[in-house]
Amino acid sequence: MSNQHKAVCNALQPFGTTIFTEINRLCAQAGAVNLSQGFPDFDGPEPIRRLAARRILEGPNQYSPSPGVPSLRQAISGKVKRFYDVEIDPETEVTVTCGATEAIASAFLGILEPEDEVILFEPCYDLYPPLVARAGAKAIYVPLERPGFRLPRDQLERAFGPKTRLIVINNPLNPIGKVFSREELEFISELCREHDVIPLSDEVYEHIVYRGREHIPLFQIPSLRERSIVVSSTAKTFSMTGWKVGYVISSPWLTEAVRMAHQFLTFCTPSALQEAMAEAIDLDDSYYEELLALYSGKREMLSQVLEDLGFQVLWPEGAYYTCISIGRLGFEDDMAFCRYLINEVGVAAIPCSYFWHNRRGGRDLVRFCFCKTDETLEQAIERLKRWRG
Ligand code: PMP
Ligand code: GLN
Repeated sequence: MSNQHKAVCNALQPFGTTIFTEINRLCAQAGAVNLSQGFPDFDGPEPIRRLAARRILEGPNQYSPSPGVPSLRQAISGKVKRFYDVEIDPETEVTVTCGATEAIASAFLGILEPEDEVILFEPCYDLYPPLVARAGAKAIYVPLERPGFRLPRDQLERAFGPKTRLIVINNPLNPIGKVFSREELEFISELCREHDVIPLSDEVYEHIVYRGREHIPLFQIPSLRERSIVVSSTAKTFSMTGWKVGYVISSPWLTEAVRMAHQFLTFCTPSALQEAMAEAIDLDDSYYEELLALYSGKREMLSQVLEDLGFQVLWPEGAYYTCISIGRLGFEDDMAFCRYLINEVGVAAIPCSYFWHNRRGGRDLVRFCFCKTDETLEQAIERLKRWRG
C-alpha cells in the first residue's frame, strides 16, 4: 500500500474511533434515548454562561498566559484549600489546559521517555492507552480484582519495576464508579516512593462522590504532596463538558514538564471560558452540595429501576454512571447487548469492554449515564420497562 493510504501512525492504529463516537452515531441513527456518552443534557449555571458571553463580547479575545489566567489559577488554589485544606501555589503548581484530556496528554508527553513503563488499572478510561503508546512508552495493565474491583496488591507490587515511570489512578473511576480508599492510596503511594514512580490521578469526578465515601486527592497523602500529578476538569462539576477547561495540580518540578508539553500542544485555553470558570469554582459550598444532591437522586432513580427490572446493578460510589451485569442475559457480548438495546429498546448505553485492554475482562458489563434531565431518564426507564417489565 502506498503511503497515501496509511496516514495514521503505527501507535494509534490499533485504537480506531472511540466507542463514545461510535455509540452516539448508532444512537442518532436509531433515534434512541442517549444514556451513553458522559455529558449532561442540560447546561451549567446561567450566570457563568452570561459572564463568558460578556467577556467574549467585551474582549480582548487574544491568547492568554500559557499556564492559565491568574484568576482561574487563584480560584483553583482557593478551592483546594477550601475542600481539602492543602496549600497550592497558583503560580508554580497550577496549569490550565484544554480539558483533562489535554492535561493528561501534556503530562505524558512532557514526562515519558520511549521505553518507560506506565501502570494502568483495568478498567481504565479510553484516553490513557493511546496516549501512552503515542508517547512511545509501554502500558502495563493491572486488572482490579472482582468482585468489588479491589486493589490487587500482590499483582500491583509485581507490576512495578525499574522501567516504571508513571502509574495512573482514575478516582472516582469511570466506568464503574469506584472511589479509592485512603488505605488503597497509601498502599500505592508506598510503592511509588519505593520505586521512584510518579502517580497521576485523574479526578474529574472529584465533586461527585456519594454518601458514605470520601474523595481523597493524591496531594492530600503527605508522602505524595511533592510527587503527584492531579488532573481535574470543570466539565463535570459545572455541567459544561463542551468548554474543555481542565487543569493540572503538581509541584514545580512536575509542573515544569507539564507546561513544557502544554505550550506546544495548545499554548493556552480560551480566556473568556477560563475567567467564567474562575467565578464558577468560587461559587458557595451550596452549589457543590446541590450538584451532589441532584446526582444522588438520579443515581437512585436509574439504579433502583434497573435493579427492580431484574438486572444486577453496580451502584456507583462516585461519578455519574451505573453499570449492570449482562453476563446471564444470553447476549454474545456487551456490544451485542448495546446494539440490541439501541435498535430494539431505544436506549443507548456504553459497552464496558472498551475500558479493558483485555476486552474479555469487561464484556459482561454495560454502562448507563444518568447525568440527564429527569424527562430523559423517565423516557429511557419507560422503554426499559416496556422491554423487561
Ligand atoms: N477523564 C475521565 C475519567 C473522563 O471520564 C473524562 C470525560 N469527561 C475525561 C478525563 C476528559 O475530561 P475533559 O472533558 O475535561 O477533557
Ligand atoms: N468522559 C466521557 C464518558 O466517559 C466521554 C468523553 C469523550 O467522549 N471524550 O462518557
